[in-house]
Amino acid sequence: MARRRDLDRPEALWKEKDLSNGSEVDTMVLILRTRGCSWSRSGGCNMCGYNIASDGEVDTSQLLNQLDVAMERYEGEPFVKVYTSGSFLDERELPPSFRDELLQRFSSVERLLVESRPEFINSETLSAMPTHTTLAIGLESADDAVLRHSVRKGFRTTDYVRAADEIREAGMELRSYLLLKPPFLSEAAAIADARDSVEFAARHGGEVSLNPVNVQKGTLVERLWRKGDYRPPWIWSLVEVMRTADRGDARLMSSPSGGGSRRGVHNCGECDAKILEGVQRFSFSQDPTDLATGDCGCLSTWRRSLEEGVLLRTAVDTERHMDDGLTI
Ligand SMILES: [Zn+2]
Repeated sequence: MARRRDLDRPEALWKEKDLSNGSEVDTMVLILRTRGCSWSRSGGCNMCGYNIASDGEVDTSQLLNQLDVAMERYEGEPFVKVYTSGSFLDERELPPSFRDELLQRFSSVERLLVESRPEFINSETLSAMPTHTTLAIGLESADDAVLRHSVRKGFRTTDYVRAADEIREAGMELRSYLLLKPPFLSEAAAIADARDSVEFAARHGGEVSLNPVNVQKGTLVERLWRKGDYRPPWIWSLVEVMRTADRGDARLMSSPSGGGSRRGVHNCGECDAKILEGVQRFSFSQDPTDLATGDCGCLSTWRRSLEEGVLLRTAVDTERHMDDGLTI
């Protein structure tokens, strides 16, 4: 690591707006520094920069210090999101004593959102959480071949379904995170994959958050991108999926990190901000007319891109790369 990390302070903390009980409310987002995602110790996911952001061992007193810093910034926001760059319910990341202290400090919130991989979600771990908890799962794709070869997720869709059922039985809410354009998918294949995945996740209810892949440092995706073998998705593709996927009663949302930048979801540079605003509006309103984005010269370039990129399109090709020992 280039710089020493201060394990007594959170990785990040910011305020934003999100929905709670159907109303737009002030929201605090807290990212704790932990020992990191357990899956990252087995190589982790292809697009995930958390793999290199893990901090080694972080003890309970350091976690409590991070929580103290967060409480100084907390202004009674009704919605609080606590991320760990891994799994909130993984006791190796967050010891139960610390978790209980955190839940106590935020006991008055209206809505609490935490993330976890499915393997840590069961009736026992959920019983430690208040019923106004939303469990977020990074499903990424509803296609097991994409999960295995493009994302390298380390679990299957059946694991997600089991966890989603547990969450529902516990009376809690589910938020499913999906990727738009993991590596080795062409633009057109990525749209199809994301659309199918939205429809799959929406059947499990709650909220579906579509996250366009952004190029994070030290990842396989970054290596591909530097070689010109990966372009982050077009904003037009994001709009296409949001407009055409059948989301049923689920809320479909997206707030892309790095949107409009070279490493993030982007168009030509001229129209990016305006179209991302439409995505943002839709994420709250669910009104497809908010996605009506007018025209731009880059639309035709995007349409052409939908006919390209056959080379690395299929999982079979991907498997070949993986079998080559990731020499890409
Ligand atoms: Zn444009």
